[in-house]
Amino acid sequence: MSSDQSRERKGGTKADSLDALAEKIRSCSQCPLGGRRTKAVPGEGPDRAEILLVGEAPGKDEDREGRPFVGRAGFVLDRCLQEAGIERSEIFITSVIKCRPPENRRPKKEEVEACMPYLEAQIGLVQPKVVILMGNTATRAVLDLEGVASLRGRVYRDLFLVTFHPAAVLRNGNLKEAFVSDLLAARARAEGSAPKDEAHLG
Ligand code: URA
Repeated sequence: MSSDQSRERKGGTKADSLDALAEKIRSCSQCPLGGRRTKAVPGEGPDRAEILLVGEAPGKDEDREGRPFVGRAGFVLDRCLQEAGIERSEIFITSVIKCRPPENRRPKKEEVEACMPYLEAQIGLVQPKVVILMGNTATRAVLDLEGVASLRGRVYRDLFLVTFHPAAVLRNGNLKEAFVSDLLAARARAEGSAPKDEAHLG
């Protein structure tokens, strides 16, 4: 049996709506993080959105509220979205990992592997024009590439735009200008106004 089939047997990731998928995530026990969470954080946003944002994993505030990016990194994200003219309510926001790792440590490889089918299913349902990968965990998980600082600002596989994680912007304010400029590039792409040669690198 393939691992996909095995996951399906255990209650898996197949769902025909975001709400149904979120329910599966809330009851997921595919990895040990499921046994430690207060609330899972499936993500939030409209059923169809032109932009889908991907972070790393929920922190303490997200674990308590069951919503993505509601803590300090979320505050920075909200400010930068506003500067880029992107309405938070119009985009879909999630993370690679849907349950908080202890002490906010980096997610382990096996946790990422267990959770990735949920992100893949979300991308399939939302059908965004651009998926913004924020930070190294999201970039590694989706593209198998390392080094956001040199990868950022470009579109890969005609869909994925790499940028910094807002927590990195929180730690180092010098990254904010580049982060906002990447959000603007994503918005231009979502609106179909990105220049063609910039639109398809990588
Ligand atoms: N950082 C993330 O990557 N995701 C969240 O939901 C919150 C903080």
